[in-house]
Amino acid sequence: MSGGSGARPTVVVVGAGFGGLRATRALRKAPVQVVLLDRNNYHLFQPLLYQVATAGLEPEQIARPVRAILRRQRNVEFRMVDVTGADLAARRLETNAGPVPYDYLILALGGETNFFGLESVARHGFGLKNVNEAVTIRNHVLTCFERAMLEPDAERRRARLTFVVVGGGPTGVEMAGALSELIRLVLVKDYPRLNLKDVRVLLLEATDRLLGPMPERLREAAGATLWRKHVEVRFGATVADVDGSRVRLKSGEVIPAHTVIWAAGAKAAALGAQLGLPTARQERVVVQPTLQVEGHPEIYVIGDAAYLEVQGKPLPMMAPVAIQMAETAARNVIRTLRGERPEPLRYRDPGSLATIGRNAAVAHVFGLQLRGFPAWVMWLVVHIIQLIGFRNKLFVLLNWAWDYFFYERAVRLITRE
Ligand SMILES: Cc1cc2nc3c(=O)[nH]c(=O)nc-3n(C[C@H](O)[C@H](O)[C@H](O)COP(=O)(O)OP(=O)(O)OC[C@H]3O[C@@H](n4cnc5c(N)ncnc54)[C@H](O)[C@@H]3O)c2cc1C
Repeated sequence: MSGGSGARPTVVVVGAGFGGLRATRALRKAPVQVVLLDRNNYHLFQPLLYQVATAGLEPEQIARPVRAILRRQRNVEFRMVDVTGADLAARRLETNAGPVPYDYLILALGGETNFFGLESVARHGFGLKNVNEAVTIRNHVLTCFERAMLEPDAERRRARLTFVVVGGGPTGVEMAGALSELIRLVLVKDYPRLNLKDVRVLLLEATDRLLGPMPERLREAAGATLWRKHVEVRFGATVADVDGSRVRLKSGEVIPAHTVIWAAGAKAAALGAQLGLPTARQERVVVQPTLQVEGHPEIYVIGDAAYLEVQGKPLPMMAPVAIQMAETAARNVIRTLRGERPEPLRYRDPGSLATIGRNAAVAHVFGLQLRGFPAWVMWLVVHIIQLIGFRNKLFVLLNWAWDYFFYERAVRLITRE
């Protein structure tokens, strides 16, 4: 590969998530050679990770090999490498498999869990950002039930059967709803001796509201639905520390619980800051409206890793932002090659959705506010459409239909402890 000496300029894209993949595809007809780098050999559909964590789907159903996705694209080469650093002046990335030179660089690094410096939570809590973490949660939750069945002491048994989800954003709400349903609709059949009174699912939120940016009516509907599904929602509850068998809140209250799932924060992947690029809140790299980094017009940062304010507010860390940024960045690379000026991102907010288990969701889309069954159907359709690959769509649909009609969750295996 050439770093500028070949006939076609080289565009290196880091990250095969929503942003990186879309940018790569948007460059398919451009007179460039694209080199796509990711530490994993697959593209992951993160919005369904919580279903892997709650034994509803298998990881393979929400991920697809990058090479299979890009098989037909001629001007791309994929390399499974970890990007570890860069010499920005020399336009060269450092990876665990040697240097990779570029003419243009699109960084689509995504995000990671933000524990806000709470070391005990990072050590004993569970994040939900990748396949490993989702499978770890599944194994842990199922193991808690096995251990609880062997535990003669009632208090210790209850601690094993208390599941604390922290963070009332979409991930926390979806996780808490799905966990409660897994227990009350499915595990209850596997553990006939289980006393449901011993089981608690708590959703802790530090502020006074769930699903912050949603309209009030939908936020209230989400809260009411969670209560109906036996999730104890606590507002003004801030976690101070966790030790693996109990959670201590800032108020001093102690909740005996072996499981803390942390959905309370995200920040940009570490690499952006490590490269010395300017960062803002959540360690996201500050970009100009054209998505270029100031002083480095050849570098674009997109998706969760990028910080850009639109109408005075930072764009959220969500898939539609990454996808729209990817299209703008790819277009700007092409415009620059033609000698035209790069254009600013014109972000169109498609709205947001969150499901709360069977037949229940809230949706704020196209100016409409939906809840209950219609919102749930919309959620299903949107997610099936967005999943990559016909096979994945088919298997996820079949899985959902089976679980819906038979009150089942197929993946109840403890594959490691
Ligand atoms: C549990 C969960 C649920 C979510 N639900 C929703 C939802 O319902 N709706 C929604 O819109 N958004 C949702 N999101 C957010 C959405 O997934 C992200 O906004 C989106 O994935 C961002 O895309 P991206 O391209 O910036 O990063 P990602 O899709 O995260 O991709 C980043 C890629 O970069 C790679 N990478 C990072 N660093 C390196 C490195 N140093 N070397 C090599 N490779 C590297 C990673 O392996 C990864 O493949 C959810 C996120 C999570 C975690």
